[in-house]
Amino acid sequence: MNKSQPHDGYIKCNCCLSTEKAAIPSELFVPLNSWREELWIRCLIGAYPDGTGYGNISIRLPQTNQFYISGTATGGIPELDQIHYPLVERCDITLNTIWCSGLVKASAESMSHAAIYSANPEVGAVVHIHNLQLWQKYLDILPTTSKDVEYGTPAMASEISRIMALPETLNKKIIVMGGHKEGLISFGKTVEEAAKVILGLVEDE
Ligand SMILES: [Zn+2]
Repeated sequence: MNKSQPHDGYIKCNCCLSTEKAAIPSELFVPLNSWREELWIRCLIGAYPDGTGYGNISIRLPQTNQFYISGTATGGIPELDQIHYPLVERCDITLNTIWCSGLVKASAESMSHAAIYSANPEVGAVVHIHNLQLWQKYLDILPTTSKDVEYGTPAMASEISRIMALPETLNKKIIVMGGHKEGLISFGKTVEEAAKVILGLVEDE
């Protein structure tokens, strides 16, 4: 495993990948992948015309702060397999580095997921989607992170930790990412709960 140095300005997150660990267990994979599909068919997770993927979904490895997350550059794939969900073993916000294991890398946005899991042990799953209409409609209406912090950065992770302490956030179970256009992130005890927070907003459209 190579330990990378942080980039200047923390624009990009380092991800150290190890391929030693086993794949995501079926009992975590099945709900994670089926709700990922529900979000994918509604284009809440997907890929832009240039091929760049967006959105990701994760599930906590019970009793730990580790989690499995849909891998980077998988947004364009309609149906994922177990190999597409690396395990994020550790995040270091100050080093801007993620340590993960699996066959594909975790995205820089894993840092935001990690901030939510570590802020609240009750959280079992996190969903991050892109949708311009929802983002514009709920910006500063639902709990919203500062517009001055970019996605996938230590600043965003710190901002998420701050906002996770607010009673309104725990009540609504969703955060609008002010500095990440189109970005919303929801959470719940289960993947179903986290996904339904987002799908509930879509149905209100
Ligand atoms: Zn995003």
